[in-house]
Amino acid sequence: MAGRKAVTRVGEAADAKPTRARAATKTAAKTKAAAKRPPTRRAKPHAGRQRKSEHVAEILRLLDEQYGTAKCALDHRSAWELLVATILSAQCTDVRVNTVTPKLFAAYPTPEAMAAAPIEALEALIRTTGFYHNKAKSIQGAGRVISRDFGGRVPQTMEELLTVPGAARKTANVVLGVAFGKAEGVVVDTHVFRIARRLELAQGETPQKVEQELMRVVPRERWIAFSHELIHHGRAVCEARKPKCRQCVLETLCMAKDKTWQS
Ligand code: SF4
Repeated sequence: MAGRKAVTRVGEAADAKPTRARAATKTAAKTKAAAKRPPTRRAKPHAGRQRKSEHVAEILRLLDEQYGTAKCALDHRSAWELLVATILSAQCTDVRVNTVTPKLFAAYPTPEAMAAAPIEALEALIRTTGFYHNKAKSIQGAGRVISRDFGGRVPQTMEELLTVPGAARKTANVVLGVAFGKAEGVVVDTHVFRIARRLELAQGETPQKVEQELMRVVPRERWIAFSHELIHHGRAVCEARKPKCRQCVLETLCMAKDKTWQS
């Protein structure tokens, strides 16, 4: 036994030496070969970003071509009327809002008048836009805050607009963009949210996240027009349930899973 053990140990030792030596030789050979090899052509670090910006630029170009004259569909004669109309447009169509605002503004034309209006009277006037209890409180509160804190004029900054009852970021972006031509953010309504994700311009699960993503990929000078164009595209072609992909100008750029037609 003792002899066998000794032989085994010797054998192990004898085997180990050439193995290590072979490994060392191999490593040296690899290093030499690597040194001779021409440098690998790696993808440029900005290639992905460049492709993305080209993708975005093409989408913007096609949208502009198709809907270049798109405008806000809410009827209004002032920033105040636009603010109220936008508050009323939550969960409601612009067409419906446009049917109630003429009577509403005829009865209560200013923020002061809206603030002093009986809540039941406001509710009756805006009933058909849905959620009228909350909306009536919002527009009355908006009238109160604007007349009390801003001298009866709609403020022109995001920070101030967010203090107005009923005005979250989307409403503030609409008012700033449409009434004052200020691009402080991107309007993300239900259409913009859906289409931005279908076109892989954004992946966020909330309008806030999608807005932040869009603000990163869409050039600021296009923020206002881009929202209008996407909203028109959503109404006319890229509908929620059954998008009309066959007649979509963006079809070749779109990889949405729920496409109804593939060229
Ligand atoms: S191809 Fe279809 S899903 Fe994609 S943007 Fe156009 S209409 Fe929408």
